[in-house]
Amino acid sequence: MTDVSLFESREFGGDREGPRLLITAGIHGDEYLPMLAVKELIDRFDASLTLRENLQGTVTLIPIANQAAYERGHRCGLDNIDLARVFPGKPDGNPTQQLACELSDQIRKSDFYIDLHTGGTELCVLPLAGYTLHREPSVLEQQRQMAVAFGLPFVWGTSADLPGRSLSLAGDSKVPAIYVEYLGAHRELAEALSGAAQSQTPDHPLVSGCLNVMRHLGMLPEIAELPPVACDVVEDERPEAGHMQVAHPAPTTGFLVSHVELGQSVVEGGLLAEIVDATTQTTRQVLSQQNGRVIVIRDYPRINQGDAVAVVVESGKAE
Ligand SMILES: [Zn+2]
Repeated sequence: MTDVSLFESREFGGDREGPRLLITAGIHGDEYLPMLAVKELIDRFDASLTLRENLQGTVTLIPIANQAAYERGHRCGLDNIDLARVFPGKPDGNPTQQLACELSDQIRKSDFYIDLHTGGTELCVLPLAGYTLHREPSVLEQQRQMAVAFGLPFVWGTSADLPGRSLSLAGDSKVPAIYVEYLGAHRELAEALSGAAQSQTPDHPLVSGCLNVMRHLGMLPEIAELPPVACDVVEDERPEAGHMQVAHPAPTTGFLVSHVELGQSVVEGGLLAEIVDATTQTTRQVLSQQNGRVIVIRDYPRINQGDAVAVVVESGKAE
């Protein structure tokens, strides 16, 4: 079993003027590649004097924000409360609310924030950088630029009205913030076992993405011109657009057979998945509610009624 103390939070810099950047992973305890990526960043700053000397400002790296959930191997800690629904938390609340309160203090004292996630045990998400459509144009534009700078193929701006997230707290505090999604447990495992997060040739996209944002913010020197990554930017103001857990809800509980792949284009009415109810031997179809691209699928065969089957993003929503 991995020793949690190996994944201690660390802070680097502070000697040279520059912004304060906070990077968190493990808000959910079953999202592993981001934890490895943040640990990799810590190891690199520890190992390289040049990197530390070049750093302008301060970077705070938290590889496992929710240690109780990590130790349980679950999205949530023992109180079964989703940390990403209770920000800003309560100092005298349950353990998860108290943790949200501590993290809120960290976010408030930062100038910029990156929160790394995956689809966890059940979902698999197209690698993307997301942000909220902040009402203040300067914050929104900084978020957009950070998301593009991260360098993943998909950039997604969604409503600022989803409460309880780390990004909602950042938004309320006017701290420009992005979140990142990168696959999910079943595909994460293949990458983690291959040592991808610790490989420097090439960097894992989660490691290089954080470094890219640091360069964009002027915290690290620019490196030789890289070819720009073609990224698809979609902004969608509908209130529930960014809430992955409620899209295309399963009409019944059963065994899920997906008919689409991540990134695939689908048309309205197209078959996303079938759910087989083993007890009644009936099959229900789940059809796409819109034209667009599949950015989230469920990677786990068992599904409960009401759980999200897939998320489809309407490409027509792009600016
Ligand atoms: Zn998550």
